[in-house]
Amino acid sequence: MHQQADVVVIGAGVAGLVTARDLSRAGLRTVVLEARHRPGGRTWTDHRLGRDLEIGGTWLHWVQPHIWAEVTRYGLAVTRGPRSEETYWLAGDEVRRGTLEDFMALIDPGMTRLLEDTMRWIPRPDAPLTVAGLSEVDQFNLQEMLDELDLSVDERNANEAAWVGHLNGPLIDCAYTNALRWTAATAGSWRLMHEASAVFRLAHGTRRLVRAISADTQADIRLSAPVRSIAHDDRGAEISYADGQTISARRVVITVPQNILHRLDITPALPEGKLRPSVEQTASRGVKAWIRVRGPVKPFFAYSSQHHPLAVVRTEFIGDDDAVLVAFGADSTRIDADDPAAIDAALRVWRRDLEVLEATGHDWMADPYSQETWLIRQPRQLTWYHRAQQAATGVLHFAGSDYADIWPGFIDGAIESGTRVARQVRAGLDPEPGRV
Ligand SMILES: Cc1cc2nc3c(=O)[nH]c(=O)nc-3n(C[C@H](O)[C@H](O)[C@H](O)COP(=O)(O)OP(=O)(O)OC[C@H]3O[C@@H](n4cnc5c(N)ncnc54)[C@H](O)[C@@H]3O)c2cc1C
Repeated sequence: MHQQADVVVIGAGVAGLVTARDLSRAGLRTVVLEARHRPGGRTWTDHRLGRDLEIGGTWLHWVQPHIWAEVTRYGLAVTRGPRSEETYWLAGDEVRRGTLEDFMALIDPGMTRLLEDTMRWIPRPDAPLTVAGLSEVDQFNLQEMLDELDLSVDERNANEAAWVGHLNGPLIDCAYTNALRWTAATAGSWRLMHEASAVFRLAHGTRRLVRAISADTQADIRLSAPVRSIAHDDRGAEISYADGQTISARRVVITVPQNILHRLDITPALPEGKLRPSVEQTASRGVKAWIRVRGPVKPFFAYSSQHHPLAVVRTEFIGDDDAVLVAFGADSTRIDADDPAAIDAALRVWRRDLEVLEATGHDWMADPYSQETWLIRQPRQLTWYHRAQQAATGVLHFAGSDYADIWPGFIDGAIESGTRVARQVRAGLDPEPGRV
C-alpha cells in the first residue's frame, strides 16, 4: 500500500527524534524511518559487563544549552564518574604518577598557547564562520599547531593524548579549528571545555533521554526500516524503504551521519557541497572500549600518547570486587575493543597490576549506519562545506549533530540541529486546516 506523510524523517538518532517531536507536535503527519532495530543512533545504553554502559555518546554539561534544556524539560538526573585519585602519564617510556591536577598543570601551558586566539577566530560559536580569516587557520591540522609550540617530550605526549581523547582520530588528520570550536563553546576556557566533554552523564543512561523524547512525540516511528532510495522534485519526495515499501512526503529530513550520506540513492543527486565531505570522510576514526578489571582498584586516569592503541583510560564505575574502565584510542583498526588480550596489552603501557576480566565496545567505523564516531573535521572541511551541508536541497532538509553550530559532534549538536531544521520545515509547511 502506498503511504503518505507531511514529513518523513530518516533516522531515529537524537536529531531525528527531536525533529519528529517538534514537527508532529505542530500538527504535521510525521513518519520516522530508522534502519536499526532500536532508536538512539550513536547514543546507545546497553547492559554489558554487569553495568548499563554508554556504547556511544555519554557526557553532557550545563554549558551545552540544547541538551540541558532537555534535561530540565524531562527532569533527567545527572551524575558523574568517580573522581580520580591518581593519574598516570608517560614521559618517553617512563611512567609518571601524580594527581589529576598535576597532569592538568603539565598540559596547561600547551593548551593555553594552542588556544589563546580562540575567541579571535570564533567569537560567536553559534555562527562559527563570521571571521573572514578563518579559512587561513582552517588549513592547519592539530598536529602541526602542537609541533609549533616546541613542547618538552612529557608535555607533548600529555597534550597529544588529551587531544586524542577529545578528537578520536590521528591528530595529523584533525583540523585545528575543531579545537577552536570546542573551546569557543566554553568562552575560551580549555578547562571548562575539558569538563564539558568528559565528566557528567545521565544517571540512567542516554536511553532515558531517547525514551523521553519518543514518549513525547506524535510521530510514527518505524524501526528496522532502512531507507533504500529517495526521488524528489519541487512538490515532494518518494521514499522506498525496508523491503519494497514506499511512502511519499511533502518534505524529507535526512539525519544520517556525514560519512554515509553519499551512499544513499538520491535522485536527482545531491549537490557537491554535501557529497564531497561525505566521500572525503570525517577525521575521527577512533575507538571507545569498556573494560572490567578485578578490584579493588582506586579511581584513576591514565594518558599515554596518540601512538599507543589506547591513549586515555579511566575508571567510570567502582565496585567492591571489580571496576569498569572506559578507554579511547585514535584508530579503530589498531585495537579490537572486544579482545581482552589486546586490551590487557594496551593497559600494560601504564600498569601491570590490572587484571582484565572482560572487554567490550562497538565498531562504529564498521557499522553501516554510522561509519564514524563523533564529527571531527579534516582541515578545510569547516570553511568549505559547513554552510552547504546545513542548507536544504529543494524539499530535502538535513539535520544532525555533524551539522551543528555550537557543539558539533555532541548530543547537544544533534538537538540544536534537529530543533532548527524542524522550525525551518514547519515554516514552509503549515498543517492542513482543521488538523491541528
Ligand atoms: C563512541 C562515541 C562516543 C561519543 N561520546 C559523546 C559524548 O560523550 N558526549 C556527546 O555529547 N556526544 C558524544 N558522541 C557523539 C554523539 O553520540 C552523536 O554526535 C549524536 O548522538 C549524533 O546524533 P544524530 O542524530 O546526529 O546522528 P545518529 O545518532 O547517527 O542518528 C542517525 C540515525 O540514522 C540512522 N540511519 C542511517 N542510515 C539510515 C538509512 N539508510 N535509513 C534509515 N535510517 C538510517 C542510524 O541508524 C541512526 O539511528 C559520541 C559518539 C560515539 C560514537
